[in-house]
Amino acid sequence: MLVQQLIILFFGAFFSLSLIAAEEKYSTSREMHSELEKLANEFPKITRSLTIGHSHEGKPIHGLQISSDLKTASSRPAILITGGIHGRELAAAEVTMGVARLLLKNHSTDPRLKSQFEKWSIWIFPLINPDAKDYNLQHRLDTGYFGRWRKNRRPLKDSYIGVDINRNFDFFWGNTSLHTSKNPSSDTYMGPSVESEPETKALVNFINNNPNITALLDIHASSPYVIYPWGHTKDTIKNKTDLDFYVKTCKAMGEILDYRVIQSGNFGPAYGVFTDWAYYAHGIYSIVVEAGSLRQKPDELKKTTDLNYLAFLQLMGDAPSERSKWPR
Ligand SMILES: [Zn+2]
Repeated sequence: MLVQQLIILFFGAFFSLSLIAAEEKYSTSREMHSELEKLANEFPKITRSLTIGHSHEGKPIHGLQISSDLKTASSRPAILITGGIHGRELAAAEVTMGVARLLLKNHSTDPRLKSQFEKWSIWIFPLINPDAKDYNLQHRLDTGYFGRWRKNRRPLKDSYIGVDINRNFDFFWGNTSLHTSKNPSSDTYMGPSVESEPETKALVNFINNNPNITALLDIHASSPYVIYPWGHTKDTIKNKTDLDFYVKTCKAMGEILDYRVIQSGNFGPAYGVFTDWAYYAHGIYSIVVEAGSLRQKPDELKKTTDLNYLAFLQLMGDAPSERSKWPR
């Protein structure tokens, strides 16, 4: 009996220890904001922090500009990285933040980064949808379970809440599909009008005001994929040079990440999507990485972040320094 009790005690302690070690940990929007500020203070010569707008609840959509020469940064080609547009993809914002951290920590030591770092400037906004991430984390505190809220948190008529920010952009907006809905109760609700959401507006204004952005990486976390336009159709991009870039670079990124590569529209059409809009409206070469599952334990998150950093280096090496003139 005593031996049995000892065994139970031993394994009980072992399992609770491993549970503690493996517990998932995600930052609130406030914690992410502080970390961005901390990084900006730690690397003042190559970093400045900025807010490009506010969420429905008034939380800043905050990020960093990173450049080896901040004075000439606006005349250099720029790559934009965004994350956390879908609230329940908790890993996405953490991975994006982790990539920012690695870019700063490695900028003078990683030879793969060094030459790219002289050429590009980088904008990085790890959390486009702070209200939903905070809601999902608060849900965990209240109930013991992480929330699964995807859209933003803006109240709509008839007591519905939230618009899918990634269906609210001005690209084939208003069309419906299995992945794009006119119904406010849907997880993929397109919104009452195009660019109706403050988070959408923040991104649109930022991109409209920064003509040096030539490439965009939007980090999600719902599956392991590297994805390129178009999303509204299965038809491939007509511009051969652009298509060659997308296929070649996504394949190389997919090999680094061990993810599959797919044209977005092959999942079935989606309308009003951020990256399709950026490519169509501005000729910005736009790629989505779905960085694995929604939520990830710390060791998995670290691995995902390290690999996404390497995939981003690949994108920096391949991305054209001028926008596409003929994305259509
Ligand atoms: Zn997503």
